[in-house]
Amino acid sequence: MIKKILPFAYIILWFIVPGISLAKDGYHRNPDVDIIHYCFRIYLNDSTDRIEGSAGITFNLAKKTRILELDLVGKNSKGSGMVIDRIESGTHLLTYQHENNRIEIEIPDTLKTPGTFTLSVNYSGIPADGLIISKNKFGERTFFGDNWPDRARNWLPCVDHPSDKATVEFIVSAPEKYKVVSNGLLIAGFPVIPANSTRNWVTHWKEDVPVPTKVMVIGAADFAWETVGLSKGIPIQSWVYAQDREPGFIDYKPALDIVNYYQDLIGPYSYEKLANVQSRTIFGGMENSGCIFYYEGSITGKNQLHSLLAHEIAHQWFGDAVTENDWHHIWISEGFATYLEACYADSLIPDRKLDASMADMRKSVIEYYEKTHKPVIDTTIRNYMDLLNTNSYQKGAWVLHMLRQELGDKVFWTGIRNFYAAYRDKNAMTSDLQSVMEEASGRSLRDFFFQWLDIPGQPVIQWSWTYNKKKSRVEIDVEQTQSQHNFVFKLPLELCGAPSVADPAKPGKSAYYQVPITEKKVHVTLPVYFPIREIRLDPKIQLLFQGKMVTR
Ligand SMILES: [Zn+2]
Repeated sequence: MIKKILPFAYIILWFIVPGISLAKDGYHRNPDVDIIHYCFRIYLNDSTDRIEGSAGITFNLAKKTRILELDLVGKNSKGSGMVIDRIESGTHLLTYQHENNRIEIEIPDTLKTPGTFTLSVNYSGIPADGLIISKNKFGERTFFGDNWPDRARNWLPCVDHPSDKATVEFIVSAPEKYKVVSNGLLIAGFPVIPANSTRNWVTHWKEDVPVPTKVMVIGAADFAWETVGLSKGIPIQSWVYAQDREPGFIDYKPALDIVNYYQDLIGPYSYEKLANVQSRTIFGGMENSGCIFYYEGSITGKNQLHSLLAHEIAHQWFGDAVTENDWHHIWISEGFATYLEACYADSLIPDRKLDASMADMRKSVIEYYEKTHKPVIDTTIRNYMDLLNTNSYQKGAWVLHMLRQELGDKVFWTGIRNFYAAYRDKNAMTSDLQSVMEEASGRSLRDFFFQWLDIPGQPVIQWSWTYNKKKSRVEIDVEQTQSQHNFVFKLPLELCGAPSVADPAKPGKSAYYQVPITEKKVHVTLPVYFPIREIRLDPKIQLLFQGKMVTR
């Protein structure tokens, strides 16, 4: 996801439910319940913002469980929110309570456990959020799902947490002027004449790969759409407002090359198709699985959307297919997307090695730390919108960049491919990534992961050097001055000689070293074979640190 300046204040109501199944991120999990499939029928109309819905929910119970809990935002004092009409299983009406935006459904004694069970929740109301019903920039009415992080519960009864992935289908009835796009594959789109004789289309989309609720969506608008091409058999599509057909098709077209790049780099794309959709999302881009939504102003016709496309498309691999199991590990989603976006951008420029992107990101990470002394995995966050911060994005990207320096390109990318293959369409924690990378490299990465993800900030280095011409060596003193932790790292440096006297345009000799810094203070002596004029720290932008030279 890419943030956008929000046009309105955003408020999240937060209820902390005490209990032993309380995950670190505060969500009250049902350890004995696993949702397998959602079948949402949604009725949209043009006379009111009220929607009618029915959710067919299929789930596994691990053991005898009395209550099934779902999230659904109830009706508020302003009149928006959902009201349940009935919950049934087959022909049996089920008993339930709907309070504090949670549904507690009594599971009948007749249910054999462990087993699989299906029920349906019938409900209606005006979505307070999550399904944005509004007018687009052309003044036309549109409907766009916008579930991240836990806003699905505003219009879909569900287990609204990324740890419980499920397959999903949407059967959407809407007035015939709308085209409806969603996750997965189009099963059917056909006109039917309902009883009130208003002409409605029913469109049926089905996603057969389990996805988290944060990326389940529908979009309904007067779309123009095209298939740009196939990436290893996967259709890559553009869906834009009919009025933006020409510029929109230009701007979303690079998606095909980007999907090709990631399929080669990381592994097979996980979904049936990829639609890139102009929308009314509150974000700059939102990585809904197989159906990415971009803010409506993204289209200019100038073909300048590569970075945004590359970021959101990278999420199809990390965030969507491999999903954080706990919100505090969101860097697995945002840090990966940010780093892969930079890798893709640099792949377009011959011989560029990420220096410029990483230097920019290092600057933002350092500035952010000056204001916020928090680690990447920040377990104090309860408002999930606060997860969209520089630590999750740019510092997460830096962690991957340093891991790559540490392990070398071959081992690093093998590890990333193995991580994707092992956790594709599942959930992962940071410790899972660490294990896979340890297996790929054959070494312990405990200290690496701990210091960069659990410790706030980065090394702050004071250093000085002297050149002893007679003894042909340089002496370097390095001191870590940050107080929170002594980091262990290799400090890359370049010893630079003077340019040639005969040809000043020709650069002088140089030599690269990686000096291991394992203590607070380190003194090193390096032999040199040419006169040293300058020493440059980290010339290839490989380390996250702040450096200050002191004169001696
Ligand atoms: Zn993102």
